[in-house]
Amino acid sequence: MSGFVEKPEPVRVPGLVHLHTGKVRDLYRNEAGDLVMVASDRISAYDWVLPSEIPDKGRILTRLSLWWFEQLADLVPHHVLSTEVPPGAPEDWEGRTLICRSLRMVPVECVARGYLTGSGLAEYRRTRTVCGIPLPEGLTDGSELPEPIFTPATKAEVGAHDENVSYQEVVRRVGEETAARLRGTTLAVYRRARDVARARGLILADTKFEFGFAPGAVDGVVGEEQLVLADEVLTPDSSRFWPAADLQPGRPQPSFDKQYVRDWLSGPESGWDRHGEEPPPRLPDEVVAQTRAKYAEAYRRLTGHPFE
Ligand code: ATP
Ligand code: MG
Repeated sequence: MSGFVEKPEPVRVPGLVHLHTGKVRDLYRNEAGDLVMVASDRISAYDWVLPSEIPDKGRILTRLSLWWFEQLADLVPHHVLSTEVPPGAPEDWEGRTLICRSLRMVPVECVARGYLTGSGLAEYRRTRTVCGIPLPEGLTDGSELPEPIFTPATKAEVGAHDENVSYQEVVRRVGEETAARLRGTTLAVYRRARDVARARGLILADTKFEFGFAPGAVDGVVGEEQLVLADEVLTPDSSRFWPAADLQPGRPQPSFDKQYVRDWLSGPESGWDRHGEEPPPRLPDEVVAQTRAKYAEAYRRLTGHPFE
């Protein structure tokens, strides 16, 4: 079982059309045709959206994503137009709302990995490859890869896992030229972000980007479509960050942000069986507070500024 314990109702705002309620974000379209992305304080773990929220998580991740978009602006254009809350929207949308160019999304989850873990590790153990890319013998959970690799996936419906696919499959779906641009940009952005994180004592193990096309002129060539970085970027929800000081290949690395949540949910106190049918219980205040502090710490360590 997985999904929402209770799916939230979309907020009604005059002039906005509700498009989608994701696990963490709510999407609307405004009258100009732009995308309105509202990050909630919802948190997911073990494929469930938990019945407890983490205060400020939406604001912290929105601000982090914006900070990264700026760090990356010389590598790739991004989709954010403004952070202004639409008129008539609830006040608490402040700080967690992004008005974005509505793009023709590329139907590929562009994952870059610099370290082996998760679904990459599972495939490696079976075949010594990840997304068909051959890797050397002797790697283990948390090993750094000889070089970063592009390991695309295709999006699954809510509740199912994304499916890793080969580069050839991406070529088949979007064509050779777009596939090559996706791979090149994904790896360039990953390398930049990895170096930024490393300088702050964090390992960026892997991360997922989404790209879309915007019509318009590129370098003066009219009619050429622009490849634009979309969605959220380099947040703990889309990436694995590990404290560099604690890296110990050969075991699962503690997740920077959700570890308290996962430990508590899988421990005896929660009374919850994550392999069973029952939805997860509410988190104790203590676990919520510690988790909030972790998100704030991720923000502070990466950007160099406290969140408050
Ligand atoms: P999950 O909750 O598992 O992440 P989800 O991906 O459907 O599910 P969200 O991540 O909240 O939910 O939804 C964001 C959606 O918006 C994604 O489908 C993403 O591809 C899309 N998207 C992001 N940026 C843009 C953009 N600039 N233009 C159009 N669509 C976008
Ligand atoms: Mg998503």
